[in-house]
Amino acid sequence: GLAPRRGRGRGRGRVQGAGCGRARARARGGPVWPGLAWPWRHGRRGGGSGILYDRPGQVGKDSFGNDYVENLKKNGISTGQNVIVIVPGANLLLNCEDLKRAADVICKAKVVVCQLEITPAVSLEALKMAHASGVKTLFNPAPALADLDPQFYTYSDIFCCNETEAEILTGIPVGNLEDAQKVGRMLLERGCKLVIVTLGAEGCMMISVEEPIPKHVPAGKVRAVDTTGAGDSFVGALAFYLAYYPKLPMEEMIRKSNCVASVSVQASGTQSSYPYRKDLPRDLF
Ligand code: ADP
Repeated sequence: GLAPRRGRGRGRGRVQGAGCGRARARARGGPVWPGLAWPWRHGRRGGGSGILYDRPGQVGKDSFGNDYVENLKKNGISTGQNVIVIVPGANLLLNCEDLKRAADVICKAKVVVCQLEITPAVSLEALKMAHASGVKTLFNPAPALADLDPQFYTYSDIFCCNETEAEILTGIPVGNLEDAQKVGRMLLERGCKLVIVTLGAEGCMMISVEEPIPKHVPAGKVRAVDTTGAGDSFVGALAFYLAYYPKLPMEEMIRKSNCVASVSVQASGTQSSYPYRKDLPRDLF
């Protein structure tokens, strides 16, 4: 990043964010508008990722580099972590009345995916509506809330979070696979049927009521250039497999979703990095 990277876990800081269709302004440690910034997703491991953003932030170990960092600090710009600013805009206008109007769509869907970029109560209501109709629910608690309503766990068939979200939800930093197993178990105990913790270049950790021994599903080795939106790419792919290949074993769905997401990190941008189906290897279908 702009400066010293955090040394935790696998290590490097990186810029994250800009999910699918999200109005996110990225900043690197600059002033954040009170009330609009939530949450602070810290720089963390990158596993070869973040090249696009890491380079412009390097400074040399010389007096120019020192002066540069000093100047940033003097002007109140943090040099240690990345910050994601979310400008929710129209997202927060979606309300439960809208859900009622869309009840037909929600209740007849193959899978309903929710996250927290709309008002949490509205997300929860959508999950409840889907659940009541026997529709599979996939919940991605992003951006994470430390005081997430516990009902989110019970109404999520699949609870899929990344390391940062897992840390905010459990208080346990996820720096290695053991930590991921631990948070996976904790989240499962809160009442969901299946938990997936995405681990960047390391793939995912999965744990379920049916298979309570956590299982690591590694991602393929790729040369990542921009990992923004990788989580959304993963969740989108998983929703696809749940909807169109519901009989696939979950581990297989996760492995395939890892593949799709690992394609997305090899291109820059968020939505623009998502592959079209026709460009993906045939064995993914
Ligand atoms: P988020 O974008 O929410 O921080 P992750 O960084 O955990 O989510 O990435 C989600 C998924 O994207 C991972 O589980 C993995 O499948 C894929 N992925 C992310 N980074 C890489 C990488 N460097 N190499 C290969 N796959 C990656």
